[in-house]
Amino acid sequence: MRAMIFEAVGRPLRQVERRTPSAGPGELLLKVHACGVCRTDLHLLDGEVEIASPPRVLGHQIVATVVPDGDAEQDAGQATEQEPGGGAAAAGGRRVGVPWLGWTCGECVYCLSGRENLCLRARFTGRDIDGGYAEYTVADERFCFPIPEGFPDLQAAPLLCAGLIGYRCLRMCGDAERVGFYGFGAAAHILIQVCRSRGQEVFAFTRPGDHKAQAFALELGAVWAGGSDESPPEELEAAIIFAPDGSLVPLALRALARGGTVVCGGIFMSDIPAFPYSALWEERVVRSVANLTRADAEEFLALAPRVPVRTTVSEYRLEDANDALADLRAGRFSGGAVIVP
Ligand SMILES: [Zn+2]
Ligand SMILES: [Zn+2]
Repeated sequence: MRAMIFEAVGRPLRQVERRTPSAGPGELLLKVHACGVCRTDLHLLDGEVEIASPPRVLGHQIVATVVPDGDAEQDAGQATEQEPGGGAAAAGGRRVGVPWLGWTCGECVYCLSGRENLCLRARFTGRDIDGGYAEYTVADERFCFPIPEGFPDLQAAPLLCAGLIGYRCLRMCGDAERVGFYGFGAAAHILIQVCRSRGQEVFAFTRPGDHKAQAFALELGAVWAGGSDESPPEELEAAIIFAPDGSLVPLALRALARGGTVVCGGIFMSDIPAFPYSALWEERVVRSVANLTRADAEEFLALAPRVPVRTTVSEYRLEDANDALADLRAGRFSGGAVIVP
């Protein structure tokens, strides 16, 4: 099969031919139909988040169909495809999504208290386990989720990280009526639709001067869009920071009403500059969100078709994965990027 592999920090992904993997006990062999690109992939490429044992296939927003036992070698590239949701759970051909959380121990204090996103021995798809920038991949069946009907493969891919982890961030905002998004990429373009369906107002902050992203936010129903250096017209009750820029934390705090919360949604952020205690005073909160739980996945994938969430995606061929990553870094597309093997 073809795969794009990470070999070392600072080097582009390289296309290789490798043996199609085989599924062990409790695992599924998956034929990848689409895999979303995520900012975390840039942090992995840049070494800001470490890959302990390269080479590694990146990609943790995988939409795939299950290959029945033994079929992969006979007909690699033409695995049986059935209607989504058709057949019993164990049948081949069903369509599933694989997110960032790829394995948890089930035994540590976090797993035992409903916080498996914090599992001490967690393994992550596309970091510790080979991911979806390949024609086939293998995943732990317990971390494969049915993709809701009505979402074509490409449109479903961004739900699996941008949507899922974004939704966990939004949950941390409670019932805030006015929510700020700092960075208007894949996650924000999904969450704004969830917010609107609940009557929450969204204020979109982009890089100063990024009028294209501001227009995209307004098109999706933001009540206000501007640069991250601007003050919103009203005080916010919560803000989510998607951009990996620590200098946004004090800016977001200053945009908050008393008692408001700033949620940092990324896995990596540059250092947060010092700020006066008065910015935090009056019960303002700064917190991070890490990873996801299987309960988050189930809740969000059930919610997405009810909103209904519509994703905007740019498609790239597998061999063009480096272009997709470069375009994400440069902010050259609106919404999400999806790689199609
Ligand atoms: Zn991600
Ligand atoms: Zn654990």
